[in-house]
Amino acid sequence: MTRILIVGAGYAGMTAATHLDRISEPFTLINKHSYHYFTTLLHEAAGGRGEPFHYAIPIRQVLRRASSEVVVDEVVGIDRERRVIRTATGEHPYDWLVFTLGWIPEYFGIPGLREHSLVLSNLETARSIREHIESEFHAYVQDGDVRHLRIVVGGAGLTGVELVGELLNWLPRLCVQLGIDPALPEVQNIEAMPTILPQVSESLRESAVQTLTRKGAKLRVNTKIVQVERGIVRLEGGESVEAGTIIWTGGVRAHPLLQEAGFTVDRRGRAKVNEFLQSVDDERVFIGGDCAWFEGADGKPVPPTAQMATQMGSLIGDNVSSAVHGQPLKPFRPNFQGTLASLGPEVGVGDLKGIPVKGFIAGLAKEATKVKYLWQLGGVRLAFDKSSELVHM
Ligand code: NAD
Repeated sequence: MTRILIVGAGYAGMTAATHLDRISEPFTLINKHSYHYFTTLLHEAAGGRGEPFHYAIPIRQVLRRASSEVVVDEVVGIDRERRVIRTATGEHPYDWLVFTLGWIPEYFGIPGLREHSLVLSNLETARSIREHIESEFHAYVQDGDVRHLRIVVGGAGLTGVELVGELLNWLPRLCVQLGIDPALPEVQNIEAMPTILPQVSESLRESAVQTLTRKGAKLRVNTKIVQVERGIVRLEGGESVEAGTIIWTGGVRAHPLLQEAGFTVDRRGRAKVNEFLQSVDDERVFIGGDCAWFEGADGKPVPPTAQMATQMGSLIGDNVSSAVHGQPLKPFRPNFQGTLASLGPEVGVGDLKGIPVKGFIAGLAKEATKVKYLWQLGGVRLAFDKSSELVHM
């Protein structure tokens, strides 16, 4: 029997797997955890809108058919010659591979950054951020050192801004809980470029700046982080900021196995794919989500977003099944629905198919995207079962 192997159950891998499950096309999915988590909502888990496991679902709750095999294991290598995936505990041969292992943080070689910062990359790290801030605030109660109450978020792209919005919502409640003056904590969002949120229009950006500043954020643009030590962020020009919590949201790169296995990659480690989302180096390997270097009609690589990942995953599910049965493959046509950034519960900024939205409407639209994704993944049953944990309006 032809072996389809999917590695990684993020947005792209899970969507491809769901497609194959629905048509009873046999495949094996290998993933580090037995659950699929919602990367785009990790800031909510870090800021305590819900418990971390509200932001995950068991893979088996979605992939129900006997023809779908799920293996919980960590992928550690690819042997392209032998068409074998190596995992922590063994080897898995494939005829067709779907590579969707997602991203890792991009540290740009900044000294000390990896060692002395927290990142928002999965459920565990979301929980760590939350617990770290709680422990720093407890330390302030013990010794009165205000550095425990300072939080630096490095990078003001979508991840950084959404996290800052969420923290600003949570910290006043944490202060009340611990008897700390809510005026004392400080959240600095430090961005190297001249603006925050380059993905949205200037007027929406202005709205985001106003909302976050009103909630108490200190937004610093044209300010580059050049070194990090334990509790100290050093900036270009010589200034340094002492902070009990340092979180890095300065960028992402594709899973390093692609480069290690000799695929043609871009500067962010993404592997080049053709119009059918097959590696240009090996048509037996489909690559999706944050791992794929796919150039749109404008010649620019499509961004590593959940929206693109789910669209790629859906097409890959279709194409890998067609490839197995000798049917023609379909080309990938990205359909940009817009960008939505949450700025805390109930508010946001963004655009829906080019129409600008902000405030409560943007917040509502963001909540609606959660239900839409659950629906895509598991139909009405999953949307109904899970929305009560995820939607906070
Ligand atoms: P990003 O690359 O989009 O943003 C990182 C920011 O960090 C940039 O603005 C960059 O200038 C800044 N930066 C880099 N080095 C710096 C330094 N030394 N000092 C200070 N600032 C520095 O990364 P991201 O925000 O993690 O997003 C990654 C991808 O995920 C993007 O494609 C994004 O669109 C997507 N995403 C989408 C959503 C959403 O749709 N709501 C949410 C999160 C992420």
